[in-house]
Amino acid sequence: MGNCAIVGINWGDEGKGRMVDLLTEKYDVVVRYQGGGNAGHTVINEQGKFALHLLPSGIFRKDTINILGNGVALDPENLLKEIDEVVEKGVSLTPENLKISDRASLLLPWHRDLDELEENRLADKKFGSTKQGIAPFYSDKYQKKTILAGELYYPEHLRKHLADLLEWKNLTLTKVYGAEPYTMEKLEEWLTTYCERIKPFVCNTGKILKEAQKAGKGILFEAQLGSLRDLDYGIHPYTTSSNTMAAYAPIGSGLPSAKIDDVIGVVKAYSTCVGEGPFVCEMFGDEAEELRKAGFEYGAKTGRPRRVGPIDIVATRYGVEVQAATQIALTKMDVLSYMDKIPVCTQYTVDGEPTDDFPFPAQLNDAKPVIEYLDGWKCDISNVRKFEDLPVAAQDYVKYVEERIGCPITFVSVGPERDSIIYR
Ligand code: GDP
Repeated sequence: MGNCAIVGINWGDEGKGRMVDLLTEKYDVVVRYQGGGNAGHTVINEQGKFALHLLPSGIFRKDTINILGNGVALDPENLLKEIDEVVEKGVSLTPENLKISDRASLLLPWHRDLDELEENRLADKKFGSTKQGIAPFYSDKYQKKTILAGELYYPEHLRKHLADLLEWKNLTLTKVYGAEPYTMEKLEEWLTTYCERIKPFVCNTGKILKEAQKAGKGILFEAQLGSLRDLDYGIHPYTTSSNTMAAYAPIGSGLPSAKIDDVIGVVKAYSTCVGEGPFVCEMFGDEAEELRKAGFEYGAKTGRPRRVGPIDIVATRYGVEVQAATQIALTKMDVLSYMDKIPVCTQYTVDGEPTDDFPFPAQLNDAKPVIEYLDGWKCDISNVRKFEDLPVAAQDYVKYVEERIGCPITFVSVGPERDSIIYR
């Protein structure tokens, strides 16, 4: 069995969680390889409705091993909240089916504070951070100023390391932001309340992955957010602080030798974007409100209304290319059923010139969308399970998008439930 990555092609919230939940059946191991609890996957299955933030979406399958890789921002406090919520709904989560990489860095209590302090300092120039501490966390990780989860097994070393970090971080907190300093007592409390509880899940997950690879088991790599939020390839600086690319999966998961056979890119049948930053195809006014309501576009983590627009061919083609997607899952097709005519952003114009190329970030604010309209189908398609049973206009929409983005659409999702899917 081959390995597969499920990634977002656009700005995130494409419906990756529902695709991972659907496809985990075929895989033995599911790994989250980047990001933290700053976004959410919504999964609806026979066990209920779940908003996952950090937990891999494979936790609902009995024999699946779920791994949080070294590339994630591991926030013990938020992870435990999430574990408790899921367990309360009857899902079994034990060190047998959930494993945290000993090389994952811990998001420390001051990362969330620093996120908030910096957003407040930026005031009207803020980035729209979810204030989960992700940017301060990754900055510190790359400065090697974090604690690895595996250090929880070495208490003496851990306390010395924490004391050094505390001294260093208090300089920033007090001298840069004029905030209260942290104390070792506060960190001890954090260790006892949260870290001790996650410790049993922490192990050498690289070894488990290597063994799975050797045994020919299938590994599913699960990404957070999408191409346009990638730190290096996205709409800098309105990106996240990690790499959302499939190419990062082997590094962030703990299996650098992994070969990814299949990259399933998830694309929404229209566009959404949370937070600040350029969003060329954005719709406004009543038209936007109607689409937002139809798709229930409010953030899974923050409840913030998402910005909406038509499908953006320029951005999507770029996303497909950088992810090296081998196939596409087109989600939320059912949401478009109310439209008479379906808008599509087919090109951009930059300085009055039409272009098919996704612009350099600094040019994005000057780009204008070119909108064309395709026929709507105006009927409920949520019970359709075969492509040929879709109305012709819906089939044509799928074929049009497929042709323009240059990648086969092999799944069409027509509802949030696990089985609301058309295999093509
Ligand atoms: P993710 O982070 O990429 O997993 O995306 P989110 O979970 O934030 O957003 C996707 C939302 O759309 C969730 O509420 C899903 O339940 C829902 N969803 C996914 N696929 C479909 C679909 O085909 N139709 C409808 N109506 N909702 C869907």
